[in-house]
Amino acid sequence: MKSVNHWINGARVDGDGRTSELFNPATGEVSGSVALASVADVDAAVAAASAAFPGWRDTSLVRRAHVLFRFRELVYAHRDEMAALISAEHGKVHSDALGEVSRGIEVVEFACGIPHLLKGGFSEGVSTQVDSYSIRQPLGVVAGITPFNFPAMVPMWMYPIAIACGNTFVLKPSEKDPSASLLMARLWQEAGLPDGVFNVVQGDKVAVDRLLEHPDVRGVSFVGSTPIARYVYETGSAHGKRVQALGGAKNHMLVLPDADLDLVADSAVSAGFGSAGERCMAISVVLAVEPVADELVRKIAERVEQLTIGPGDDPDSQMGPLVTRAHRDKVASYLDLAVEEGAKVVIDGRETAVRGGGTAAATPGFWLGPTLLDQVPAGSRVHVEEIFGPVLSVVRVESYEEGLELINGSEFGNGTAIFTNDGGAARRFQNEVEVGMIGINVPIPVPMAFYSFGGWKSSLFGDTHMHGTEGVHFYTQGKVVTSRWLDPSHGGVNLGFPTNK
Ligand code: NAD
Repeated sequence: MKSVNHWINGARVDGDGRTSELFNPATGEVSGSVALASVADVDAAVAAASAAFPGWRDTSLVRRAHVLFRFRELVYAHRDEMAALISAEHGKVHSDALGEVSRGIEVVEFACGIPHLLKGGFSEGVSTQVDSYSIRQPLGVVAGITPFNFPAMVPMWMYPIAIACGNTFVLKPSEKDPSASLLMARLWQEAGLPDGVFNVVQGDKVAVDRLLEHPDVRGVSFVGSTPIARYVYETGSAHGKRVQALGGAKNHMLVLPDADLDLVADSAVSAGFGSAGERCMAISVVLAVEPVADELVRKIAERVEQLTIGPGDDPDSQMGPLVTRAHRDKVASYLDLAVEEGAKVVIDGRETAVRGGGTAAATPGFWLGPTLLDQVPAGSRVHVEEIFGPVLSVVRVESYEEGLELINGSEFGNGTAIFTNDGGAARRFQNEVEVGMIGINVPIPVPMAFYSFGGWKSSLFGDTHMHGTEGVHFYTQGKVVTSRWLDPSHGGVNLGFPTNK
């Protein structure tokens, strides 16, 4: 049985007794426990981060970049170990876990360019013998609060950039899959990061609330569900912090009748069922513009029937279990609801065979196979609510305009995709759709590290997206300096507002 604890000031630290169980989602068995931080544990981590801040802030940009380069190499060298930790606690298949590690590494690579990214502006002679320049400085101690679905990648959207900018960091990972965070902490230390610059507190609401209220925490980055994102944004802001809080999603794929339906079917299955649909950029609704729906549903169903469901550490598995029993039950409850709401169940994931077991419903572990629903009524709960599991809904529409209206009517605005061979339609879509990240014949349009990640509406509270230049902006504050040197002709006292001379 493993026991996962905190990492404070460069060392593993036991909690004060409160713990939560960890599970192997493929078997349903308890695999260990994770400490749940008390207020005192959080205070200790923030104190370590505060003490480390002056030294790290004053470490030169080039030396910070050296540490980041070494960290990048170490994460790459340990990527298999990291993926195995993720798979064992989250359930996703090993290749998928490796994928999230490599997308996280890309943010570290972006952050290695920090000497360039923090270059300010300089204007010589803005007034007679007066120069102006802008600089950006770190905030101080910043915190990251992260969800279960990407235990390596989502924290890596945050801390490489925060640390590169000269901040010190306290991570509060999901209590469902906390082990990757401790491996990250060890690798930071091996890379030469001074103790106290990166800290991890494991925990639940107690830890989150303390981070949101702590006077020495200057900024909070959050990723998780919409209700908690809203709470974190409102509470953190009320305590004077800079907050970016990314929330939930319900991502639609709009399929125009001229699209290549084989490409669409491959894309819908990949984006709907990868990681068992537990991705904030998963496609969960296909809007099929008639007359293609019958043919498209047939093509999607053919592909779903070929998928192999099994434990994440089995190299033949394409999709693993869900993260917890409670989450599996909640997702499965949408199948009965779909029938009540008038949808047609084309493939029932409870009946899917699990490798080495029976049907998903009868196999120990948190199993639900890929589920395909057709003729889901627009506006029904199955259509509009975030299910966050392997359930793909097809909603039939008559036109581009009807599809667009459904997307823009959603509470969420995280990701969307259009499939078409008509460039004009695609261009119109990118202009008219009210969503932050858009794919054109690309089903999961997760921006690269040098662009920024974030949605609209209830998918993001705050105004700054993560990583890329917006990440650098979030983790720094600006100063503008106006300077004049040894000008004897200063002109004496002048109470008027400064104007150019
Ligand atoms: P969650 O909101 O339950 O948990 C996220 C974090 O908040 C965890 O660290 C958790 O410990 C903490 N938390 C949970 N309840 C809390 C409470 N009452 N008070 C304070 N803190 C609390 O989310 P999850 O189930 O771990 O992750 C899945 C959700 O995250 C989905 O809604 C998904 O769409 C979303 N997500 C969004 C993005 C994005 O970029 N927009 C990315 C990944 C996941």
